[in-house]
Amino acid sequence: RSKDQGGNRITFFSTEMNEQAMTRLELESYLRKALKKNEFYLMFQPLIDLETGKIFGSEALIRWNHPKLGLVSPADFIPLAEETGIIQEIGRWVLKTACIQNKKWQSLGNDYLSVAVNVSAYQFQQPGFLKEVKQALAESKLDPQYLTLELTESTMLTNIDYSIRVMRSLQNLGVNVSIDDFGTGYSSLSYLKDLPINTLKIDRSFINNLRVDTYDIAIVKAIITMGHGLEVKVVAEGVETKEQIELLKELNCHYAQGYYIHKPLPATDFEKGLEQTVNIH
Ligand code: C2E
Ligand code: MG
Ligand code: MG
Ligand code: MG
Repeated sequence: RSKDQGGNRITFFSTEMNEQAMTRLELESYLRKALKKNEFYLMFQPLIDLETGKIFGSEALIRWNHPKLGLVSPADFIPLAEETGIIQEIGRWVLKTACIQNKKWQSLGNDYLSVAVNVSAYQFQQPGFLKEVKQALAESKLDPQYLTLELTESTMLTNIDYSIRVMRSLQNLGVNVSIDDFGTGYSSLSYLKDLPINTLKIDRSFINNLRVDTYDIAIVKAIITMGHGLEVKVVAEGVETKEQIELLKELNCHYAQGYYIHKPLPATDFEKGLEQTVNIH
């Protein structure tokens, strides 16, 4: 996405690879109506246990299908949704929808299944956030232990003391807290030991070049070792090759997610794939 200096026009590519240019205001007005018009849906990307190769859960990822713009990537509209506060409503919808869907899959006999939901900084810092989480859990009847909330380092480090309190309250509810895109933010190791987290998700930029880049191997190895020491689960995101999986197994990484395993899937396809074991041996 690029914003040119002159006007307030935003340019981005939709999946059909049409260049879309419009004013920020136009896009904002589309975005405001999107929820009511049912233009959002969720995709689910499998998360696997590297020991067994089994799917144990998913990450819910939002998609926006606009009649004129086509499929708009979250990378294009989430930042605008954050800046305008529209993320508040969108985030609430994602949380509730993901919990309901996961509970449905559990009821179909997959009682072990968990779901991870991305939470934006704006949403997390709102005073009503904890209540929203409780509401989503109550409405869906999902057991909190099967919900993980993914926060980025910058989200946590905004208002650090307040954030820690909210994270602790989430954990007290039984919800899991995960650091997303770990390694790309600014959290220092001294913070890390005080953060109430259950999972570290290694950013895919470190996973991409694994095997060829010895520095990346060193970093990934260090994060996994640290995760073991802190007694948190470590997830590698963006796994695209068999070599990367093999190396991650060697390094005793707990979980993995990525195109090599599965791309994000519509709910119906995810459900069909639940019985599958990915051959990682
Ligand atoms: P994220 O939370 O780090 O999600 C992972 C992103 O990496 C997803 O992109 C996923 O499709 C992509 N991915 C997964 N495996 C691979 C792989 O092997 N290779 C590559 N190149 N990419 C892979 P997506 O769905 O486009 O989402 C982008 C970002 O948008 C997310 O990054 C997250 O920050 C944000 N996002 C998505 N859904 C939501 C949502 O419901 N709420 C909020 N607040 N943010 C969301
Ligand atoms: Mg995420
Ligand atoms: Mg991530
Ligand atoms: Mg990422």
